[in-house]
Amino acid sequence: TPIFTFENITYQYADGTVALKDLTLSIDTGKKIALIGNNGAGKSTFFLLLNGIIKPTKGTILFHGKNLAYSRKEIRKLRQQVGIVFQNPDSQLFSSSVYEDIRFGPKNLGLSPERVKKTVDEVMKRTEIEALRDKPPHFLSIGQKKRVAIAGILVMEPELMVLDEPTAGLDPYYSKKIVDLLSEIHHKDRTIILSTHNVDLAYEWADEVIVLNDGELISKGTPWEVF
Ligand code: ADP
Ligand code: ADP
Repeated sequence: TPIFTFENITYQYADGTVALKDLTLSIDTGKKIALIGNNGAGKSTFFLLLNGIIKPTKGTILFHGKNLAYSRKEIRKLRQQVGIVFQNPDSQLFSSSVYEDIRFGPKNLGLSPERVKKTVDEVMKRTEIEALRDKPPHFLSIGQKKRVAIAGILVMEPELMVLDEPTAGLDPYYSKKIVDLLSEIHHKDRTIILSTHNVDLAYEWADEVIVLNDGELISKGTPWEVF
């Protein structure tokens, strides 16, 4: 079963803007997916639907084949299993140090302090931010902030990681480092979706490409099929 199936999803904002129109697609487990589309194509709206921050205006979303009814329990599960790294990392870095920031999620899960420490240390190592441990996140470079934000999500071990333009604002060297990190943390049970304007990146990194334009699905397939 796909992790998500969208059936005829329409999303309209309060001011009447239709951000997604009759979108039907599924997200298969374990894929590396690139979502491509111009500004205003509906990418962020799509992401907000994936983690239950917003509810479709019309249509049905299936999560692991089950119709999402948006009960509190389902929403809690969805938020645990779908982690979003927002485009502006400042919106999700709020602690006084990098370490505290990454510790926040696991600590709230009620794990033992030893377990929390072990998990946080592992993730910091994996994302190569150990040297930033005691720094206040606000003073980091944009690329460093992105790594910290990714670590803060990764530490929760979500089955789906969603990244809104993870390479925006990074020079080619740091873009590549972020993309390499995303390939490294991907595995058969962890699906990763990123949005990007960078067609080369999508071509090289993704197993699957989804193209949105003006709220509509234009194309979905392997990079080879889509481009
Ligand atoms: P993208 O992420 O691809 O740039 P968005 O999902 O942000 O696209 O936006 C899709 C459409 O919805 C755009 O026309 C945008 O202006 C509109 N939109 C986004 N957020 C809001 C909002 N909160 N209220 C009204 N319209 C919005
Ligand atoms: P320090 O100089 O404090 O030891 P570094 O500058 O080497 O730290 O960065 C620590 C980690 O953050 C490294 O993994 C590095 O790749 C990453 N990093 C540093 N600057 C950026 C940046 N601008 N964009 C992306 N990643 C960065």
